[in-house]
Amino acid sequence: MTACREPASVLIERLSNGETTSLELTEACLAEITSHDGAVGAFLHVAGDSARQAAESIDRRRAAGEPLGRLAGLPVAVKDVLVTRDQPTTCGSRMLEGWTPPYDAHTVEKLRDADAVLIGKTNMDEFAMGSTTENSAFGPTRTPWQLDCVAGGSSGGSAAAVSAGFAPLAVGSDTGGSIRQPASFCGVVGLKPSYGRVSRYGLVAYASSLDQVGPFARDVAGAAMLLEVLAGHDRRDGTSVDQPVPPYGQQLEKPVDGLRIGICPDHFGDGLDPEVREAVERALDIYRGLGADVQEIELPHSRFAVACYYLVAPSEASSNLARYDGIHYGRRTDDHDGLVEMYSNSRGAAFGTEVKRRIMLGTYALSAGYYDAYYLKAQKVRRLIQQDYSQAFADVDVIASPVAPTPAVRLGQLTDDPLQMYLADAYTISANLAGLPGVSIPAGFSQDGRPIGLQLLANAFTEDRLLRAAAMHERETDWHLATPTFAGDAC
Ligand code: GLN
Repeated sequence: MTACREPASVLIERLSNGETTSLELTEACLAEITSHDGAVGAFLHVAGDSARQAAESIDRRRAAGEPLGRLAGLPVAVKDVLVTRDQPTTCGSRMLEGWTPPYDAHTVEKLRDADAVLIGKTNMDEFAMGSTTENSAFGPTRTPWQLDCVAGGSSGGSAAAVSAGFAPLAVGSDTGGSIRQPASFCGVVGLKPSYGRVSRYGLVAYASSLDQVGPFARDVAGAAMLLEVLAGHDRRDGTSVDQPVPPYGQQLEKPVDGLRIGICPDHFGDGLDPEVREAVERALDIYRGLGADVQEIELPHSRFAVACYYLVAPSEASSNLARYDGIHYGRRTDDHDGLVEMYSNSRGAAFGTEVKRRIMLGTYALSAGYYDAYYLKAQKVRRLIQQDYSQAFADVDVIASPVAPTPAVRLGQLTDDPLQMYLADAYTISANLAGLPGVSIPAGFSQDGRPIGLQLLANAFTEDRLLRAAAMHERETDWHLATPTFAGDAC
């Protein structure tokens, strides 16, 4: 097995007892990227030399006995939606092509403080809008398990990077499922934290009331370790919550006593792929075998979640993306006759189809005369969805469900039909609307070898219990140990 496919905790151990060096590990990851990323498409920027230099400097400091950070020497890949002062940041868009930001996102600062090696920026749907990474202006990301299928999205590059062994850890963002769904399609662990747990400072905004930054790893312990580094208060983000960060990794071995799991019958209705249903049911049996109590819960408003999300998210996006006007930010076209035409031609040339669609949807929903009927109504529905969860979490510790209705789909299968693509987000978006933490963990494979994830959601700021519940399943299974084959056509 290549070094970068080992779980992060094993690699940290090897680095600290001198069995390997950060430079060796970084070279191993770079070699994997060189061999396979042409077919996978996980990276938009690979930080070869700067990663080597960072690794060497950490190795020197280790040799000199200096104190080192929590992730010392470990290569970490970062979604291209987080600004980095020494690496370009495009958000998967022509609008920002060629831009290197003058500062670091809070989470990128945290990675540097933890002595991680930033190995590159990962591919994503343009401005994080999408579920397949096919909306990237720079080509799609494929799941390393089957190269004619998508990696999921919008953080497809980060999920694929961990799955392929390009980096043991990666960072993504999740507005409506963009960490959990690609984690499911790529067979890795991906966690969306509670809203406010991780600072959004330097995360390029899509829908600010929903966006959260979170970890990808090969196992639950790796996700816990990275979450510990990313989480914490930051006064530069007004929604960042000032609560201590629990030592998520410390209690993972401890099962949740008398674990109560809620399942919502609506999550198992029409449109759910039978192999996904089977995987979720098998996972529930595993939990039952461990003594968990699995009970039905009601989420009466969850059937409105897709409609609600696709009003709230585009509305916020239309406002957030107004800044890309060719003057304040972004690409300016020379092809114009006057100011208004300069705005519209710049935006027309540099934004992709899906981004334009969201801007139009959002502008319409917020416009005078329609605001009450669409945006305001959606906010009221959002509150009802939140209340459903508060009631459910009075009776259960976690809610289990599929992550997505199907395993990874073929390239092109969803792009022609935006409505189908939106509907496929049905299981993930309510957690964002309600601000709850959620995780996708490997739970099986389809017969033709595509990974299937299990989603667990928990009450706000109970990531510690969520991770412990996830670890209980992981200890009983070996899905997370399987490695991808890079099979299929990279056509
Ligand atoms: N698929 C959803 C969307 O397109 C979620 C994306 C995300 O979480 N960034 O909006």
